[in-house]
Amino acid sequence: MIISRRTRFGTADLLWKDDDISQNVCKKIMRLAERRASGVPLSYVLHEAEFCGYRFKVGRGVLIPRPETELLVEEALKYFPAGRSVRFADWCTGSGCIACTLLMENKSSECVAVDKSRHALRWAEINVKFHSLGDRIKLVCCGEPENVIIENESLDFIIANPPYIPSCEIPHLMNEVRNYEPHIALDGGDDGTELYKKFFRTFPYFIKHGGLFLTEIAGDSQAETLISLAVPKFVPVNKIRDYNGIIRHIIWRKN
Ligand code: GLN
Repeated sequence: MIISRRTRFGTADLLWKDDDISQNVCKKIMRLAERRASGVPLSYVLHEAEFCGYRFKVGRGVLIPRPETELLVEEALKYFPAGRSVRFADWCTGSGCIACTLLMENKSSECVAVDKSRHALRWAEINVKFHSLGDRIKLVCCGEPENVIIENESLDFIIANPPYIPSCEIPHLMNEVRNYEPHIALDGGDDGTELYKKFFRTFPYFIKHGGLFLTEIAGDSQAETLISLAVPKFVPVNKIRDYNGIIRHIIWRKN
């Protein structure tokens, strides 16, 4: 017998060691296990990933939230803590994990979440509904930052985890990533900086005077390239290292 029990994440079906399981449930478990054994990422098998302690619905067509991206969100919350009314944009929102987490952590915030992939935005929409955030977020499908309509100097900050892997490295990614996750969310062009160049050109128009741009990057060597590309529009104010000691995030202030 399978009994539904309440857990801190809601109601879950738990099985005790002497419990029987019906044939249907058994078949379902075997189907999921087979998908996982064939290499499908666990989050796609379960259609769920955890990010900053919140649950997000994910599946084919959207990047699975990564633990190191949580560090970027934590950093954003240091600058814009709960209670401070802020308006921000989350560029390359994917599943919407960054935007939704910030909205849930700071109830006085509002967000524009942008992505060029309609598939990804469908997942973002599901997550916005799942977390009941529809009245504080606007989802925008657009590939070119300059084509997004946002009022001049209206945002306190823009946060982004853009595709930043150089195109030539994509064939060498782990099978699980390369074969299943959307390349559109990973491939950052020749040297991985294609999108950042557009950001540095267009974001100063959207961000308030003294506002911030918080972004995830590929690592130390990309940090150097980006810091020189950002001049004179943005100055780096902080660099955050990930769990492997690699520079993974840069916080910039608009000049
Ligand atoms: N913002 C989403 C995440 O961090 C998606 C990022 C992307 O698609 N490059 O998971």
